[in-house]
Amino acid sequence: MSGDDDLKGIDLRDRVMFITAQIKDLQKKREELLGRLRNECTHEAITETPYVAECKFMHALPPKRTCIICGLSEEGWGGYEKLSKGTVVRVIPDRGEFHRYNSELKPLTTIVIPEDMCGKT
Ligand SMILES: [Zn+2]
Repeated sequence: MSGDDDLKGIDLRDRVMFITAQIKDLQKKREELLGRLRNECTHEAITETPYVAECKFMHALPPKRTCIICGLSEEGWGGYEKLSKGTVVRVIPDRGEFHRYNSELKPLTTIVIPEDMCGKT
């Protein structure tokens, strides 16, 4: 079973085009829902990566925060617009690890956020 059995009898190229259209539709729906989530979220659980001073090979990097609940991300050169009041539950000094950690929304468990914040959304 390949998962596209409802497309049996349809030419492979047409199947690809059909699935591509479904993917685009789902991506659009995902963006709409994510926008609503970020608008409604109170941004209570935050991850942060600290400021990085300029060095020989690299410009300075601002501190950065991402909301664990909704994925909203902000740079903090002069403070944060929406992520100033949340609780920083995890500081991730390594920028690559910070971006990997925040690349997708995760189920809200005590591994991700403190127990008293679980189920608040
Ligand atoms: Zn949020």
